[in-house]
Amino acid sequence: MAENARKNDPNQDDGTSWMKEGLKFECTCCGNCCTGGEGAVWFDDEEGRAMAAHAGMEYPEFLVRYTRVVDGHRSLNELDTVHGFDCVFLDREKIPGKAVCGLYEARPTQCRTWPFWPEVIENERAWNRTKKNTPCPGMGNGQLFTVEHIVARLQEQRNSEGKPW
Ligand code: SF4
Ligand code: SF4
Repeated sequence: MAENARKNDPNQDDGTSWMKEGLKFECTCCGNCCTGGEGAVWFDDEEGRAMAAHAGMEYPEFLVRYTRVVDGHRSLNELDTVHGFDCVFLDREKIPGKAVCGLYEARPTQCRTWPFWPEVIENERAWNRTKKNTPCPGMGNGQLFTVEHIVARLQEQRNSEGKPW
């Protein structure tokens, strides 16, 4: 009953009111979100196997060559480059002037859900700060995504966080 009352109250904000018209996003393949400071690209076992298959490798070999354990979870490796710590699968050669994912079809959840992460769409300030700091020229431009789509990606990302390895 209380739950229904909350849903029907126009003054209640479930955190999506600032983006009620949806958000625009279209990747320009600049590669900025796949590099930067030292970080991690998390994946679970199922995603790891999918990436290994996409790379045409046996899973154990894939793990040894391209991944490491950070805080008890698996992450893709990074390469220390002039651009920053590039994800090991960021390909800056394939398309001149672009940086593309070498595993695009099999990329893990955190890559597929970007930029609709909880901490990024928490509020408009967080969205603008992430757009500026990444920097991500695709945020706020191009294709319009509905709130429903964004919330679905958000939930997908939430479900993937902290999964046991
Ligand atoms: S920073 Fe934005 S525009 Fe650049 S590769 Fe990432 S998602 Fe695409
Ligand atoms: S897996 Fe692909 S999309 Fe994800 S960080 Fe690496 S290069 Fe970027």
